[in-house]
Amino acid sequence: MNLILLGAPGAGKGTQAKRLEEAFSIIQLSTGDMLRAEVASGSDLGAEAKKIMEAGALVPDELIIGMISKRIDQDDCKDGFILDGFPRTTPQAEALGEMLEEKNLTLDHVLEIRTDDDAMVARITGRYTCAKCGAGYHDEFQKPAVEGVCDKCGGKEFSRRADDNEETVRSRLKAYHDQTSPIIAFYGDKGVCKAVDGMASIDDVTKQLKEAIGG
Ligand code: ADP
Ligand code: AMP
Repeated sequence: MNLILLGAPGAGKGTQAKRLEEAFSIIQLSTGDMLRAEVASGSDLGAEAKKIMEAGALVPDELIIGMISKRIDQDDCKDGFILDGFPRTTPQAEALGEMLEEKNLTLDHVLEIRTDDDAMVARITGRYTCAKCGAGYHDEFQKPAVEGVCDKCGGKEFSRRADDNEETVRSRLKAYHDQTSPIIAFYGDKGVCKAVDGMASIDDVTKQLKEAIGG
């Protein structure tokens, strides 16, 4: 099963992708995570992406399309994948369609996590992850059971993203509305897009997504 999770920055795509990964044994492909790994590795692609990401703008389509196409060919994607943060523009959505056709793959679900912009600033500025295993947390909305200790791996070090500040969030929300939201209609016209209420609790959103997928 191959699916796309659509939604504004902070909507809960990463949080839900990790839960769907476990529930359906398919892999999360986050273009944001891939780009952050490129930045950390000091590659040419990372150097090009870094400033753009810090400004809250979108990295050029051709870089992203090439990166995701290579990633989908890897062995761990053969049972299915969850696209998180891709596609983000109409040209990316069109390229994905062509790519899947060439690779003889199907797109089974496009799921939009619908949220209110006003709530996204608090979600993003309070977000942090375990530095060891990448599990996601929030200062208020998703605290670990024991303060300062990761529920998943026991790690005690956490990190926050460079672009998770209020100013950048506003640019990222604008980029979402200007450049990404048109692809909801693109998939709507094809009859494959379903929306869930992303303002509900994390558990409830998972339930809605599983129902939409039919599992
Ligand atoms: P995205 O990947 O869409 O940018 P995340 O999944 O990283 O968003 O979620 C952003 C932050 O909001 C995280 O800290 C997460 O714990 C929190 N969060 C996610 N979903 C919800 C929700 N339904 N209610 C409250 N907080 C949430
Ligand atoms: P995310 O982790 O999805 O919030 O993405 C973080 C940043 O990475 C975005 O603000 C963009 O600068 C960049 N990025 C991630 N995915 C894409 C994409 N599909 N197209 C263009 N830029 C992207």
